[in-house]
Amino acid sequence: MNQTGHTLTSAEPPPQLHAEGIVKRFGSVEVLKGVSLQARRGDVISMIGASGSGKSTFLRCLNLLEQPTRGRISLGGEELRLVSDGQGALRAADAAQLQRLRTRMAMVFQHFNLWAHMTALENVIEAPIQVLGLGRREAVDRAEAYLQRVGVHHRRDAYPAHLSGGEQQRVAIARALAMEPDVMLFDEPTSALDPELVGEVLRVMRGVADEGRTMIVVTHEMGFAREVSSQVVFLHQGEIAEQGPPDEVLLHPRSERLRTFLANSL
Ligand code: ADP
Ligand code: MG
Repeated sequence: MNQTGHTLTSAEPPPQLHAEGIVKRFGSVEVLKGVSLQARRGDVISMIGASGSGKSTFLRCLNLLEQPTRGRISLGGEELRLVSDGQGALRAADAAQLQRLRTRMAMVFQHFNLWAHMTALENVIEAPIQVLGLGRREAVDRAEAYLQRVGVHHRRDAYPAHLSGGEQQRVAIARALAMEPDVMLFDEPTSALDPELVGEVLRVMRGVADEGRTMIVVTHEMGFAREVSSQVVFLHQGEIAEQGPPDEVLLHPRSERLRTFLANSL
């Protein structure tokens, strides 16, 4: 079965990530009204939209941090098997499959979410050891390489409380990269940072994008969205209102509500 519409003779691989018709209700409030998104390998999709438009909920539905009400999710052509939980939402039919797909989708949060009782290095080696089953030596080598890549290797033995926000977020990005995921999900990774620390995190994200990783980035950084994205998606009240190449969406918005949103985002 192939829900992506690709035929066997098609040379094109299935999209790296395919979400189809994601609906999310909280009680009687429909926060996502059928959001569909496809990311091909190497795509960087920026999601923009007003606060409350459903951006975080959408990202969280992709890895089932939030249980969608309806919809389908595939990673690399493998569909996540979902069944009703009997209470109006979907849950994974197979916990092992969910676990496997989750390891291929790493998330970077607004508030970093580092483990406070672990050093930077320990934060980065934890999941590769516990989830991927790497040996400690290999995990440390890998972690050091990624900490180097994001420019915080010299802080490897520091605890999160002793790191700046920008350093913490770069450790969080190294932690996500250390899983060598197929897709990186970023939920407003620079929103909690002091303005002078935003640039260092955006630079790291740009580097990750340049390496060809597939990224979905919820962001208010319009410069980043414009320069780095392959596609920009404007979410409005739980629906994709506009979508397309960054210059088209950001420079030539078609709707008044996007024009208003962009004017307020400067
Ligand atoms: P965004 O990330 O675009 O700011 P969110 O996805 O966080 O938006 O929220 C979308 C809407 O869903 C908001 O109205 C928010 O209040 C609501 N919402 C989010 N999480 C919950 C929840 N756990 N319970 C009830 N409502 C929620
Ligand atoms: Mg949000």
